[in-house]
Amino acid sequence: MVLEAAHEVGGRMATEKVDGFRLDRIGRLLSTAYPELRPASGLDGLVLRPFAPGVLLHSDGRHHRAGVQPGARGALHAVRALASAPRPGGGPRRPVAVPGRQVSVPRSRTGAPLGTAVDQARLGVAFGKLAGTPVERLLARPETTAAEALPARGLPVRTIDGFLRPLLAALLCDPDLTTSSRCADLALRAFASGRLCVPEGGAEALPRRLARTLPPGTVHTGVRVTSVSTTSVTTAEHGEFRCGAVLIATGARAAAELLPGLRVPDFHPVTVVHHSTDETPGTGASLLLDAERGGPVAHTAVVSRVDPSRAPAGRTLVSSTVLGPPVPGIDTAVRMHLARLYGVSTARWETLGVHHTAEAVPAMRPPHDLRRPVRLLAGLYVCGDHRDTGTVQGALHSAHRAAAAILTDLGTNRSLHAADPVPTARAA
Ligand SMILES: Cc1cc2nc3c(=O)[nH]c(=O)nc-3n(C[C@H](O)[C@H](O)[C@H](O)COP(=O)(O)OP(=O)(O)OC[C@H]3O[C@@H](n4cnc5c(N)ncnc54)[C@H](O)[C@@H]3O)c2cc1C
Repeated sequence: MVLEAAHEVGGRMATEKVDGFRLDRIGRLLSTAYPELRPASGLDGLVLRPFAPGVLLHSDGRHHRAGVQPGARGALHAVRALASAPRPGGGPRRPVAVPGRQVSVPRSRTGAPLGTAVDQARLGVAFGKLAGTPVERLLARPETTAAEALPARGLPVRTIDGFLRPLLAALLCDPDLTTSSRCADLALRAFASGRLCVPEGGAEALPRRLARTLPPGTVHTGVRVTSVSTTSVTTAEHGEFRCGAVLIATGARAAAELLPGLRVPDFHPVTVVHHSTDETPGTGASLLLDAERGGPVAHTAVVSRVDPSRAPAGRTLVSSTVLGPPVPGIDTAVRMHLARLYGVSTARWETLGVHHTAEAVPAMRPPHDLRRPVRLLAGLYVCGDHRDTGTVQGALHSAHRAAAAILTDLGTNRSLHAADPVPTARAA
């Protein structure tokens, strides 16, 4: 039995419906490289709508595409360009001639966030290496904050400041990059090996699909649990349920209320602002970041270009994410920033929603334990994004770990297989 306090399943992955628009509360940066979202994960039928490859960086009044993974041919060009390039700080760079072939190296614009073509090649090679590095190797690296680790990565300062800092801030919901460098490496690895994406129909599509894999009658909404033991659950509305095992699958604070002593991390607050307009800004299905960090918006996208089901026909949905505590007059500040980022007037854009979540994403400061125990006692288990990485991937992975522990303790003679549907936790 699943007991859910709200009237819908989904928690932070809720989607609000306003005038035919589908508005997510979360900042939506999922990755097709998240193992828990792969087709064999039990989420069969979940459609992931990818953003255009890489991201668009706004700098000096122009858009620059960055972070696109070169194909095999492009990678070869990048390696060759790099091989014949001077070391960083080693004198002026020139277009690169490769024996037998002229490699086209576009002239870099002053202030362009990624620097020269050689800088871009260097970044491409670094991302290629990261994508191919096993997770265990990344997790064995010394741990510090992301902000401290970045300069040691051998990349030019302008690539770090103009691209990696805003990208990581967006991926980690952490503008100051206080996150563990290992978690930052995992986030960059997912970015380098997959595509940023959103679930078709809104974030709620994912938890709803999970709920549909359960036998009818399993999920009970509008039921708040007030206390737990290994053999019973007490609820505010329906008294006590006897049970064989309990899995607490709430956010960190609610879990600590039910299990006093459980660690409650700090959180990164996040605000998501949704606007509608009749015109479609010309950024296509790209995620747009401000390389100059000249306003409150960390990232923004014409989400209806990524997933047309999120807006009624003929209308455009622009969703933008602001990191940190809420600022006064946020809608005006966001509109002014969006006008610069998209290069259009936003004066007539309609505000559909401003959603602030104070405890949006658990902070993952070093040292961060990526695999906090999910089995507290035989019969008492806990999962959620506070037991793993503070992401949808982390929440789902911790749930798989908890489900495996429950099946073992219940003596179910059946190993959890990646292709199995997420099993029914015997909550009551
Ligand atoms: C604004 C915002 C932006 C985000 N951006 C990203 C992003 O870009 N990428 C990413 O991967 N992640 C992002 N996240 C984080 C992601 O949404 C969470 O990591 C994930 O949804 C956590 O899932 P969960 O199941 O652990 O917890 P929750 O989603 O919080 O679910 C917990 C559930 O428990 C229920 N509950 C609580 N107490 C009780 C009780 N006493 N009895 C019964 N039920 C109870 C709640 O109603 C809720 O449904 C973002 C989150 C927010 C809010």
